[in-house]
Amino acid sequence: ERMVSAEAQGLEESLDQTIRPTDLNQYIGQEKVKQNLQVFIEAAKMREECLDHVLLYGPPGLGKTTLSGIIATEMGVQMRTTSGPAIERPGDLAAILTALEPGDVLFIDEIHRLNRMVEEVLYPAMEDFCLDIVIGKGPTARSVRLDLPPFTLVGATTRAGMLSAPLRDRFGVMARLEYYTEAELAVIVKRTAAIFETELEEAAAVEIARRSRGTPRIANRLLRRVRDFAQVMGNGTISVELAADALEKLQVDRLGLDHIDHKLLIGMIEKFRGGPVGLETISATIGEESETIEDVYEPYLLQIGFLQRTPRGRMVTPACYKHFNLKEPTK
Ligand code: ADP
Repeated sequence: ERMVSAEAQGLEESLDQTIRPTDLNQYIGQEKVKQNLQVFIEAAKMREECLDHVLLYGPPGLGKTTLSGIIATEMGVQMRTTSGPAIERPGDLAAILTALEPGDVLFIDEIHRLNRMVEEVLYPAMEDFCLDIVIGKGPTARSVRLDLPPFTLVGATTRAGMLSAPLRDRFGVMARLEYYTEAELAVIVKRTAAIFETELEEAAAVEIARRSRGTPRIANRLLRRVRDFAQVMGNGTISVELAADALEKLQVDRLGLDHIDHKLLIGMIEKFRGGPVGLETISATIGEESETIEDVYEPYLLQIGFLQRTPRGRMVTPACYKHFNLKEPTK
């Protein structure tokens, strides 16, 4: 995880529970997704059915887990949480599914990482709320069908394209979460500061929002770090000067780019004259997994127009050269 050590992670997670929005009204932004979900939730409730299966996709930290919890709350059911890599064998999934209460939301994070055998158990479960279990081995083996309580599967993934087609087809609702605007992030930062009972100047909220890469998780994390600086070096109130100074010390630049973004972009400029250069080459050069680059770093850099995808590879744009005060090479 960015900017957090392993020890700090546990504490951050428990803090996370206190700041996580619990109903749709507290969930800032993503207006289109929210409006649609509201309709689907209401319709399902009127019919006294569970909500159709929902696939949420988009970069990490944009609120997929949070939204899944809100869906459960709005439907008046419990959410069970697991993840693709945690479900190793079909039996693991069967155990989870048979333990569900009618109507429950089952949240599977990183659903694109389910293995094939597990996925095949999931198909009839999603479609007909049943499990096909094979009993015995060899010629005497027979298949038994087991009914499951009806449930809503909420799957989360960084890219919808990573799901197998048969799995993707079984979701009735697909929603793509977008990066948040600066104004939306400022509202989130102010909301979190209020929960922490920390005083925060309006301009400081905007300053933190601007440097949060469009991502609520990063906004909340930066707020916590800035709050530390305010506590130790100031009087506890987060002024805009203190925020700017603290963010400088945290090595987050004025667009929210951190040292890995810098390494990636500067590496492309210095070693490959700005590209085009292939993803695998970038990955080898900066020592980050290509999947991480593609899912975590690149989407934001594409969004702000610092990076371009071409058939021959990734290219750095003039805007990026400008940001780093560098001259473009003549090609
Ligand atoms: P994801 O599952 O997409 O990685 P999370 O749901 O864990 O992201 O969200 C990360 C953090 O950001 C959460 O702690 C939550 O408090 C905050 N957050 C996410 N989306 C919103 C939102 N729309 N409004 C307010 N806070 C949000």
